[in-house]
Amino acid sequence: MVFRGIGEVQAASLPTPVPAAGEALLRVHSVGLCMTDMHIMMGHFAVKPPRVLGHELAGVVTAVGAGVDPAWIGQLAGVSPARFCGHCLPCRNGSPHLCANFECLGNTHDGGLAEFTLVRGEQLVALPNGMTAERAVWMEPLACVLHALETAVALPRIKGNDGRTRVLVSGAGTLGRLLIQALRFSASNDDDSAVSVAVVDPNADKVRIALAAGAEAGWIVPRSGSADETAAQIRAWADGSLMAVIETSGKAIAVERSLDWATPRTRIVLFGVSDPQDRAAISPSSILAKELSITAAAGMTPATFDAAARLLNDDRLDTASLVEQVINLEQVPDALTRMSQRSTGKILVRL
Ligand SMILES: [Zn+2]
Ligand SMILES: [Zn+2]
Repeated sequence: MVFRGIGEVQAASLPTPVPAAGEALLRVHSVGLCMTDMHIMMGHFAVKPPRVLGHELAGVVTAVGAGVDPAWIGQLAGVSPARFCGHCLPCRNGSPHLCANFECLGNTHDGGLAEFTLVRGEQLVALPNGMTAERAVWMEPLACVLHALETAVALPRIKGNDGRTRVLVSGAGTLGRLLIQALRFSASNDDDSAVSVAVVDPNADKVRIALAAGAEAGWIVPRSGSADETAAQIRAWADGSLMAVIETSGKAIAVERSLDWATPRTRIVLFGVSDPQDRAAISPSSILAKELSITAAAGMTPATFDAAARLLNDDRLDTASLVEQVINLEQVPDALTRMSQRSTGKILVRL
């Protein structure tokens, strides 16, 4: 499935690649479709066509080039899609995800939406016994979620009168729901950091599902216009101690509203991908008065990828319920178009 230009993702017949030194050939089993793929199709990222899309993948190694352990052959493997140079300024300053020479499958290199794809040997991730390819494709999205969390939960922690830390997730789509689960895990693994998570979304069904997934409170917010009533309810829940709003929808209006929901020193973390043309109108005075931080979490880091791969070993993390539909490769262009028109749950491609 090849990105050929804005709005065009089409099937193509390509020769099966041959692994060079340091590379492995993967027979792809499963690929997660991501909002990033949709935004690439819409021309919102500087991806040069033609490019095979797909960066959330798992498959069986069928051949390796010199320097890659032949023991991989026949193994089902996960894939760490991004590569960081390690020597540019952001890499040296501890922000490898902002690498000036960033490489990623389905972006700078052909990716997983193909029967076969090439990866570097060091991008292969060994799977524990029993982990399926459908599960392994969650490594990358979960790594991005964990990066958003480490951005939100940076010190100093803000605690309410009851000693709890409050986080509001804006947008109850796939990543919002994955965030809620990850937040509950981080809370259960650390007694000192009781976290209450709430969610806000225009879609009543999504709010209901997020509540079932562990959000403590949820609000249905109008898609446009005034949301004063919701803001008052959120502020009452926050009790003056909202540590972070993690904004997953990428909608400008949600960023504007986040400033209303904020309490003193709230950290607003932009995590959803926006259309580059979008603009938000924000009040500098409310930023100053409440001493707010507006920050962002873009992509994953090597550390959050490792943490995500480990976290997926825990069966309590529910990824299956996040999958809305399983499709085949030929259905990808329709699915991406559908994603551009309305938000869907996770779409999994099985080859
Ligand atoms: Zn992704
Ligand atoms: Zn770099």
